[in-house]
Amino acid sequence: MTRARMLVGRYPVQEILHSVYQKADSPTCQLCCTDTETLEHLIASCPSLHHIRSRFVRRLQEIYTEEGWPAPETPAEITSATLNGAIFMLDSMVDNRHNQPELSDSHHPNDVNINHCIYVSQGVSITNVNTVANLLCHKLHLARELLLAKLEDE
Ligand SMILES: [Zn+2]
Repeated sequence: MTRARMLVGRYPVQEILHSVYQKADSPTCQLCCTDTETLEHLIASCPSLHHIRSRFVRRLQEIYTEEGWPAPETPAEITSATLNGAIFMLDSMVDNRHNQPELSDSHHPNDVNINHCIYVSQGVSITNVNTVANLLCHKLHLARELLLAKLEDE
């Protein structure tokens, strides 16, 4: 749910509150006060949420590595993998088939089975990526709300 709102640009980070809705005095992140709070800052960079983020990002990188795809490393790549992970993987799946014409062009039954195994294995990974990404977005949202509430109490 949180991830869906982020994907369609409806998650109220400071940058959007400030520039689109004029509901915030400043686009600066209220948690760390070091940078503009964009979606990328929230998902991949904000130091105040590092303890929430780290194990989920590690798990995402593991899944990508297990599938032989380049693991997301930079904040931009981690944000893209978190928000668009499944789409990114489907693109990779198409790329893989281009790289293996001898498999997809052949009608030998064994090759069909191999293709099927690749497809099933990637389907599971897509489900795993979505699960991890949904959890990451939700946990970041909860931690952010909690920290913002604490700041208001002070
Ligand atoms: Zn921050």
